[in-house]
Amino acid sequence: MRYLILSDIHANWEALEAVLADARGGYGEILCCGDLVDYGAEPERIVEWARDCVELVVRGNHDRACAGYEDLDWFNPAARAADAWTRSVLTPGALDYLRALPKGPVAMDSFQLLHGSPQDEDEYLVTPQEAARVAQYLDRPISFFGHTHLQGGFLLHRNGVKRLQRPRRDSVRETLALERDALYLINPGSVGQPRDRDPRAAYLIYDSEDRVVEFRRAPYDIARAQGKIIDAGLPDMLAYRLETGS
Ligand code: ZN
Repeated sequence: MRYLILSDIHANWEALEAVLADARGGYGEILCCGDLVDYGAEPERIVEWARDCVELVVRGNHDRACAGYEDLDWFNPAARAADAWTRSVLTPGALDYLRALPKGPVAMDSFQLLHGSPQDEDEYLVTPQEAARVAQYLDRPISFFGHTHLQGGFLLHRNGVKRLQRPRRDSVRETLALERDALYLINPGSVGQPRDRDPRAAYLIYDSEDRVVEFRRAPYDIARAQGKIIDAGLPDMLAYRLETGS
C-alpha cells in the first residue's frame, strides 16, 4: 500500500489543496499525525475533509485544545488567540469529531502514528538525543510523528542516531529506502505551517511493500492563505510566518 502521510495541516486549505494535487494518483490511503486545526483560517473545511477522506488521524495537541480538554495557559498568546477563534467558528459536529480523535501512538500493522513522542503528544523530538531517549518506547520499527513542523526525522541504529534528509530548496523530493534492522522516527513535516525555513507545504508518501519513503515539498498560494488569516482577524504573525517557513 502507498500511504499519503500528512501532519500539522493547521487549517491551511491552500497548502492542503496543493499537496493533494501534487500527490494525486500516487497513494491509496491518507493518514494524519495530528493538528488539523488552529493557526489557519479554514478549520471547518479541513475537519470536513478529514472526516470524509482520511483513514486515520491521531490527535494533536491543538486538536485536543480545541476539543476543550485543557486550559490554554501554556499556549503562547498567538496560539491562544487562534485557538479561541477556532473554537468560536467550528460547528458542534466538527468539535465532536476533534473530541473523538484517538490519542497516539496508534498502530497500523507494520508502523504506527503519533503526534509528539510515544509517551506525550506535547513533547518535541528535535534532536538525535531526544529521539534516542524515546527509542525504548517505540513498539513498531517505523513511527510517523509530527508536532515539530520539521520534515525529516531519525534513523535509530545500534551504532547511533542519524538525521534523515529532507528535500533541498532546489528540489521537490528526497527518496529514502528503509533499512531492515533499524528503528525509524519519521516526520512528514507540516502541511500548513512549515518551520524548517522552507515555506513549501511538506508531506510524504510511504510505500509499505517496498519500504520506501518519499519526502516531498509542494509550493502553494501562500498570499491567499495569508489574506484569509488577516481577514479573519487572527494575529498577523500567523500570516507572516508562512512566507518564511519559520
Ligand atoms: Zn502543530
